[in-house]
Amino acid sequence: MTDHPLENTLAAGEEEYFFEHNRALIERKRKELEAQRARLEAEHRKNTHWMKCPKCGHDLKEIELLGILVDQCTSCSGVYFDRPEIEILIESQGPKGFLSGLSRLFT
Ligand SMILES: [Zn+2]
Repeated sequence: MTDHPLENTLAAGEEEYFFEHNRALIERKRKELEAQRARLEAEHRKNTHWMKCPKCGHDLKEIELLGILVDQCTSCSGVYFDRPEIEILIESQGPKGFLSGLSRLFT
């Protein structure tokens, strides 16, 4: 601050400019860090749970069952379907459909 009113006005404008510049910079960096943290958390979650049984936590292995790939637990033998596999299951109908083939396994 000086005793000259015009210089004080310019200094105040410059301060305001840098304040706004820094505020925008901090906001942008904060959003980048939040996005990076969300990516890391999602990656960690996937690495921790990928191909693990949701019931007992043991490893899942992919097996072919009547032409589609399903995930089966190596411990409790639970069988899990990914969405595309479920869609095949839903769309298959008739005597050669998946459900018919599956029912023949247990007769
Ligand atoms: Zn299991």
